[in-house]
Amino acid sequence: MQKARIKSSEDYIQSLRGRNLKVYLMGQLVEEPVDHPMMRPSINAMALTYELETEKPELATALSPYTGEPVNRFLHVAMQAEDVVQQNQLQRCLGQLTGTCFQRCVGMDALNSLYSVTYEIDQKYGTPYHTRLKGFIREIQLHNYVIGGAMTDVKGDRSQPPSAQADPDMYLHISKRTPDGVYIRGAKAHQTGAINSHWLVVMPTLRLQPNEADFAIVGALPVDAAGITYVVGRQSCDTRGLESEMEAGNARFSGQEALVIFEDAFIPNELIFMNGETDFTAMLVERFTAFHRRSYVCKAGVGDVLIGAAALAAEYHGVENSSHIRDKLVEMTYLNETIYATGMASSYQSHLTASGAYLCDQLLANVCKQQVTRVTYEMARLAQDLAGGLLVTMPSQADHQQQQIGPLVDKYLRARQDVPTENRMRILRLIENLTLGRNAVGYLTESLHGAGSPQAQRIQIQRQMDLGAKKSLAKNLSGIR
Ligand code: SF4
Ligand code: FE
Repeated sequence: MQKARIKSSEDYIQSLRGRNLKVYLMGQLVEEPVDHPMMRPSINAMALTYELETEKPELATALSPYTGEPVNRFLHVAMQAEDVVQQNQLQRCLGQLTGTCFQRCVGMDALNSLYSVTYEIDQKYGTPYHTRLKGFIREIQLHNYVIGGAMTDVKGDRSQPPSAQADPDMYLHISKRTPDGVYIRGAKAHQTGAINSHWLVVMPTLRLQPNEADFAIVGALPVDAAGITYVVGRQSCDTRGLESEMEAGNARFSGQEALVIFEDAFIPNELIFMNGETDFTAMLVERFTAFHRRSYVCKAGVGDVLIGAAALAAEYHGVENSSHIRDKLVEMTYLNETIYATGMASSYQSHLTASGAYLCDQLLANVCKQQVTRVTYEMARLAQDLAGGLLVTMPSQADHQQQQIGPLVDKYLRARQDVPTENRMRILRLIENLTLGRNAVGYLTESLHGAGSPQAQRIQIQRQMDLGAKKSLAKNLSGIR
C-alpha cells in the first residue's frame, strides 16, 4: 500500500494502482480496476472527495486533534455538533457535483460510531479498543486513506440467528484465534466503494446473543489483505458507458458496490476494536446506522441535479412557464428539501457521548432515512413526467450521428428551434441515468435499502417515539388524572 500522504485526486488514483486485488466483474478477473472503463466512474466519484480538500477546504477538511493538521472531513471524528452538521453540508455538495454515490461516508460513519462505542466497552471491560482505534485513526489521517465500513452480512435464512444458520459463514465470524490476532470468514454484501478504499473496517450487522461471541468482531484490514475476494455488482445500464459518453447519461461518475468474501483473512490484535463483547453490538449497530441514515442527505444533492435536469427538459420543450410545470418543480424542490431538513435537524441535535465525541439525534436520523426511501421515487416520477415519453423511446447517439438517418433524427427530435437536438438528448439521457440507469442504483434502490431497509427505520422510530410522554401531554390537556 502507498506510504506517502495522498494529497490530490491524482495521488489517490495512483494509490489504487498495482494492488493485485482479486476483483471479479462479469465473470472476469479484473487486472487493474483503475483502468477498467466500467469501474473508473466510481473511482472518479471517490476522487472528488480529495479534490474538494483544495477547492473547498472549509467544507472538506477539519482540524485533527491527532495530527494537528487539517485532514479530510471523511476521516474526522466529530467533537462538536457543528462537525456533524458540516458532514451533511459536504455530502450535499458532493451529491450535486457527482450525481451519484461518492462512497466515502460509510467509513466516516463507522469511525464516528466506533469512537464512542469502543470508549464505552473499555469503560466496562478494561479493554484497549479505544486507544487502538485512536492510533488507527491517526495513521489513516496521516496517509489520507479511504476507509470502507463493512457491516451488512449476507444473512442466509432470515428466520435464523447467526448461531443457528446451517452454514456459519452467512454472518462474518472468527474462524481461528491465535496469540497475534484472529482469522475471519464470511461475506459482506452491497459494500459501497470497497474496491476504491484502502482499508475495510468489519463490524457485526445485528444485535448478538452471549453465545455468539465469534460473530462480535470489529477490526481493520487492508483492502489488499490475503484471503479477500471482491465480486463487483452489476448496475442497470452499466455497459452504456462502453458504447459512448453521451449514451451513459453521466459518463464521469457512478457508485460501486461489491460482494466482499473473506476466506480466513487475518486481523492482528492491534487492529481489533471489538472481540466478543456481544452486549455492545446493538449499540454499535444503532449508532452506526444513525450516523449513516442522516448521511443520506447526499440524495438531496443528487436531487438537486435531477430537479435541474427536469427544469432544463421543460425549458428545451418550451413549456417552462406553464403553471403546472412550475408547480411540479416546486413539488420536487419541496420533497428534496425534506430530506435535507430532517438530516440537518438530526445533525444539529447531536449530543455529547461519554467519549467526548458527538452523536447525531437517532430518531431524526431514522426519520430522514425513512423519508429518503419514499421521496426519491416520487421525485423520479415527477422528473419522468416532465421529461416526456421520449425518455425511453429516444434513438441512440449513433443514429443521431449516422450519415443517412442522422439529419432526419435531428430534425424530428428537435423541440425548440434555438436548442440543439443534442442538448435535448443529453438531458434526457441524464434523467434516464438517474431514474432508470446506472445512477438510479444509488438514487432509488440504495435510497430504499441502503443503511437498512424501510422497516429497520420504522423499528427504531417505534422504539424512540415515547408514546408514554405523548399520552401524558394528552391527559394533561384533557383533564384526565
Ligand atoms: Fe455516502 Fe450517500 Fe453513498 Fe451512503 S449512499 S456512501 S451516504 S454518498
Ligand atoms: Fe449506503
